[in-house]
Amino acid sequence: MNRKTIKDIVGSNLCTGCGACTTVCCKSCISIEKTNIGRLYAKINDNLCIKCGQCFRVCPNFNEKLPYNQSDLFLGTVIDTYIGKSLNKVVYNNSQSGGLVTEILWFLFETQKIDAAIVCKMDVGKITKASAYVVEKKEQLLDFQGSCYIPVDVLSILNTISIYKSVAIVGTGCHIDGLISLQTNGFYVNIKYKIGLICDKVLSSTICDVLLYDKKGLKLDKKIFFRKKNIMVNGKFYSYKDAPIVIQYENGTQTVVPAIQRHIMKDFLTSPRCYLCHNKLNLLADLVCGDPWGMKGADLQYGESLVMVRSDVGKRIIQEMQEMQKINIRYSSIEDVIRGQAITRKERQTKDVLYIYRKKGWNIPVYMQRLLSLKSQTQDVKLKRIIRNYLLLERHSSFYIIRVLQLKLLVYLLKQKCVLFIKLICKLK
Ligand SMILES: Cc1cc2nc3c(=O)[nH]c(=O)nc-3n(C[C@H](O)[C@H](O)[C@H](O)COP(=O)(O)OP(=O)(O)OC[C@H]3O[C@@H](n4cnc5c(N)ncnc54)[C@H](O)[C@@H]3O)c2cc1C
Ligand code: SF4
Ligand code: SF4
Ligand code: SF4
Repeated sequence: MNRKTIKDIVGSNLCTGCGACTTVCCKSCISIEKTNIGRLYAKINDNLCIKCGQCFRVCPNFNEKLPYNQSDLFLGTVIDTYIGKSLNKVVYNNSQSGGLVTEILWFLFETQKIDAAIVCKMDVGKITKASAYVVEKKEQLLDFQGSCYIPVDVLSILNTISIYKSVAIVGTGCHIDGLISLQTNGFYVNIKYKIGLICDKVLSSTICDVLLYDKKGLKLDKKIFFRKKNIMVNGKFYSYKDAPIVIQYENGTQTVVPAIQRHIMKDFLTSPRCYLCHNKLNLLADLVCGDPWGMKGADLQYGESLVMVRSDVGKRIIQEMQEMQKINIRYSSIEDVIRGQAITRKERQTKDVLYIYRKKGWNIPVYMQRLLSLKSQTQDVKLKRIIRNYLLLERHSSFYIIRVLQLKLLVYLLKQKCVLFIKLICKLK
């Protein structure tokens, strides 16, 4: 056999590290690895590979059976749009936004529509990473709330789920694409419910090292929350809108790191694949949840969720949950979502990055072919620079990358302090 493997996909910076290919390899010779900067990618052990082509077939990047409409790659089918929150106080208070993702899973368990759910969480331990888990009871869901804003190979866990009859999965756009690609090839059809998250980008996991590395080295006994809402630290209250990064120590004490540090790191730690991504609004999921940024009437003090209904399956879930008074939701408009999630900007960015991919001679996903014919490349110079710098930085050692990024943060913070100081002097005069 000499069929195509995923090597071309990985070599073209198209791999999202979703994990789909690892679950179908008859030789179990694909592993998900981490680059020096903390980006996930699939790696083949050449000594074992028999070039059967199965991994290539299930990779969403080149699966022609993926149900995308090439003329609508940014919004997709939307039946209804709501804003709201879970009426379960424990779920709501423990959640990232309004707790709707967990409440939906809770409802699916309670009504015996599922016997397992695939969720994920940040690990605490030897290496900073996040992993997927299978849970079998609704109460376990509380331990998996909140967003992991670093890469997770969620689908790698799928080869443990054949014992379940009906499963729900939570995933970003690339996870749901990977799952559907597997299902179009006949795998994992016991996953009946696809709960999508809105996703603009994930930061390479080096963000954790940059935040945790101190004079004593990397101590990994701490847990990071990238956006923790409604907390009181040292007498200061942080609302949902201003949710900071929180580092939690083993003894329970917490340190707050301003959210701006994560935003500064975005330009250095976002992979080209996330810039290319068209799927911020998770087009192929049944229900899609996110933050109601920029939406009229949203509760930005304590937090709410935005939920988009994309299929009849999703519609039935929301209807039943409303009837059983599990959630408090109200209608919102898709125009608000497009504006609030800056979808027009995302569209422009994808087309620009597509152009950069072509220039570099990299492959592009099969469903993006039509975008190539559209003449909207502004040839964004900043994007080109960001991608070039990312690829250069990734070639260095992890230690070098951490130090460079810590220095960049320091320079930024010093600049901020200088500006504040000058403003103060001007006021005094
Ligand atoms: C990488 C990333 C980027 C995001 N970007 C945006 C954005 O730009 N705009 C926006 O509106 N919303 C974004 N979100 C979604 C938002 O952060 C919340 O996850 C969403 O609003 C759900 O909140 P909740 O309170 O309903 O969920 P919760 O009740 O807190 O439950 C969260 C669920 O998500 C699962 N989960 C967490 N991280 C991941 C992950 N990386 N992959 C798969 N499952 C995961 C958890 O296991 C849990 O089941 C992003 C989320 C992620 C993970
Ligand atoms: S299936 Fe997922 S992990 Fe495998 S090569 Fe494709 S994108 Fe990468
Ligand atoms: S070609 Fe076949 S054997 Fe080789 S990595 Fe892919 S699935 Fe595994
Ligand atoms: S931006 Fe796209 S490719 Fe990147 S993690 Fe999110 S869904 Fe996946």
